[in-house]
Amino acid sequence: AFDESGKIWFNGNFVDWKDANLHVLSHVVHYGTSVFEGIRCYETKKGPAVFRLREHVQRLINSGKIYRMIIPYSIDDLSQAIVKTIQINKLKACYIRPVAFRGYGELGVYPMNCPVETVIAAWAWGKYLGEKAIEEGVDVGISSWRRMAPDTMPNMAKAGSNYMNSQLAKMESIINGYDEGIMLDYQGMVSEGSGENIFVVKDDILFTPPISSSLLSGLTRDAIIILANELELEVREEQIPREMLYIADEVFLTGTAAEVTPVRSVDKIIVGEGYRGEITRKLQETFFTIVNGENEDKYGWLTHVNSD
Ligand code: PMP
Repeated sequence: AFDESGKIWFNGNFVDWKDANLHVLSHVVHYGTSVFEGIRCYETKKGPAVFRLREHVQRLINSGKIYRMIIPYSIDDLSQAIVKTIQINKLKACYIRPVAFRGYGELGVYPMNCPVETVIAAWAWGKYLGEKAIEEGVDVGISSWRRMAPDTMPNMAKAGSNYMNSQLAKMESIINGYDEGIMLDYQGMVSEGSGENIFVVKDDILFTPPISSSLLSGLTRDAIIILANELELEVREEQIPREMLYIADEVFLTGTAAEVTPVRSVDKIIVGEGYRGEITRKLQETFFTIVNGENEDKYGWLTHVNSD
């Protein structure tokens, strides 16, 4: 639940939670004209620390650029505004949601005469797929909905409208008794979850679909590839057929919200031993000890919020 006593950064100023509103005829309400980010801030001994802040902000700006939506703030401006949002709300561990959208102007499909508005909100948010998921794993199903083909919607943009596709997959998966839905791409190969990238472990080799296909270039995905290399695991970014999930030794999901979450079954077929695999556990441990500040931040992934 939200803490409604908080403040939200709205076009450069902090406003009260209840005053962060927009008009019902705003372009975004009708056509999904928005781009956004999801960023996590972790609690460390040296205070709160944001994971890959500038890279998330860069992705937000790039998402806007793809849709000709120029966000009127620099990477530095937005990074500072995010840090201030955490500070002013006195948050420790939290989830940060910057979003830019086309506001109130006119209601034709053509968006360019509607102002670009920018918002940053932050709140405490626990484990996305449930507290037990990180250790026990989740049950997923292959969705009957496919990820958008590359020439339909740009998957490199983290745009609100892409999440209508994600919602179809997510709702279907919950109704069918799963925790998450995995979508195939336009060629029928494994793409990603409704809000996560996917990895497969087979014979000690890590596989994940390449960025060139229909998926979001996840920053957690990127971090896990870096950490796997560090652990001297072979990583192959290549196309994965659906049935490879069934015969994998391990499967796991990565994302800002989901972090590194093991998958224990796919379409009710048990993956490996049916619980978190050893390589998944090792990668989780390496990831969590870095973001919690227990291990050296050798890649400069953390931005400390109260560092003076
Ligand atoms: N794919 C989709 C569709 C997502 O929504 C997310 C979450 N942003 C990801 C992948 C993972 O990206 P990241 O690790 O940067 O959060």
